[in-house]
Amino acid sequence: MKREQLFLLAALCVGCANVPKVNESRLRHEAETLAKRFIIVDTHIDVPYRLREKTDDVSVRTLTGDFDYPRAIVGGLNAPFMSIYTPADLEEKGGAKTHADSLISIVQKIASDNPAKFAIAYSVADVTNQFGRGIVSLPMGMENGSPIEGKLENIKYFYDRGIRYITLAHGKSNHISDSSYDKDEKWNGISPFGEKVVLEMNRLGIMVDVSHITDSAFYDVMRVSHAPVIASHSSCRSFTPGWQRNISDDMIKLLASNAGVVCINFGSDFISDEYRRRDESRRDSVLKYFEEHNIERGSEEGRKWEEEYSKGHPIAVADVKDVAAHIDHVVKLVGVDYVGIGSDFDGVGDSLPTGLKDVSQYPNLICELLKMDYTESDIRKICGGNVLRVWSRVEEVARQFRNRTGE
Ligand SMILES: [Zn+2]
Repeated sequence: MKREQLFLLAALCVGCANVPKVNESRLRHEAETLAKRFIIVDTHIDVPYRLREKTDDVSVRTLTGDFDYPRAIVGGLNAPFMSIYTPADLEEKGGAKTHADSLISIVQKIASDNPAKFAIAYSVADVTNQFGRGIVSLPMGMENGSPIEGKLENIKYFYDRGIRYITLAHGKSNHISDSSYDKDEKWNGISPFGEKVVLEMNRLGIMVDVSHITDSAFYDVMRVSHAPVIASHSSCRSFTPGWQRNISDDMIKLLASNAGVVCINFGSDFISDEYRRRDESRRDSVLKYFEEHNIERGSEEGRKWEEEYSKGHPIAVADVKDVAAHIDHVVKLVGVDYVGIGSDFDGVGDSLPTGLKDVSQYPNLICELLKMDYTESDIRKICGGNVLRVWSRVEEVARQFRNRTGE
């Protein structure tokens, strides 16, 4: 073989080896461009509760947590729904409404302290206008209907304060709906008052969120609601068989037939059955140890022990590819118009997948979708277009309600 041929062969081999790398970096660049170009809406980020536990300034880079302004800009995030999360035990203890109010005030203060960076979004028009002005929108969703406290007029009160979706229940069944985490199914679905809540949300233009509720409650909502609904942070149950917190294929089909959207939760528990089972058994061992040694969970001693235990029992988290697989599952099942992003950032801690550790990493997910041959138009819908379509429709249904009643 002549020297030129040898040289050419060597060059070709180097070229072959580089093909995937060149592709990868081209797709990565494209993903970053699309993240900036499209409106990214994330329907569930637990910033308010995080700041209630430990105050921090999210307008600058924070040392802890999954969200802050600089990282949102890197990730191309435009409209993170701030979760106004109310712990389930306040339903009995009292104080749910006051608690929700305090979290809403936290979000409003973030916006009023940093008008060049953040603004509350009360409508789809707000999100698009603020996107045009380079401002990160902070729409709000209320996780748990407990703060309604049995009074329909409180729904209008929270609407006026900026709430644009309500997750009917959280960890325990409440006066509105049964919870998928609670063995005690009070209502075998939603309560008679819960039906009124759904209709009042339709009338006002608040999206109904079916994450966290039982299957029976989901079917009740689908029967009662005049508007499409969202699952703000649920993944596909076909990956975690039997786990009611995720949404089943039949439910996805019904949700889509009513033009709703399921927004995929990134937590590894939601994404991978293996992770969820191992995490569950780890949690059981920790709780057993605490019980045997009379240690309170969350106490200084408890936290230290749990930290040490976790070091000795690490669990491999899911990967950004696995999250893309959930999106792909919904798309294959019902089409590309019914899936979105509901990360649960600041809510699922260490269980976030590799490649999706904080709000700077949405481009990694877009990159996976590009690798799976998703088109720009598909990706625009998944990133936020679908959620905005549902929100617009909910606004429209509210207008129709008001026109009918002459309000
Ligand atoms: Zn949740």
